[in-house]
Amino acid sequence: MTETLFCYCCRVHHDKNLMLLFPTRQGPRWRCLRSIEAAARNRRERDDFGRQQSEINREAARRAAENSLRLRQATLFSP
Ligand SMILES: [Zn+2]
Repeated sequence: MTETLFCYCCRVHHDKNLMLLFPTRQGPRWRCLRSIEAAARNRRERDDFGRQQSEINREAARRAAENSLRLRQATLFSP
């Protein structure tokens, strides 16, 4: 019979081979590799999303500045 440990993340028992002691605020707790990897992947995706979003914002700000400049020039040179 394989030994299992209770995973505080999934709230079920997993095979001991899949478990890692994970540091939490309450102290080290057993957690499965899969949930740790999933959390790390989610964090990476969130970071990527944040970077994309700030790039979009920067691009929008740049375009708005360009437009207002063009608008000013158009007003200056209009008869
Ligand atoms: Zn788990």
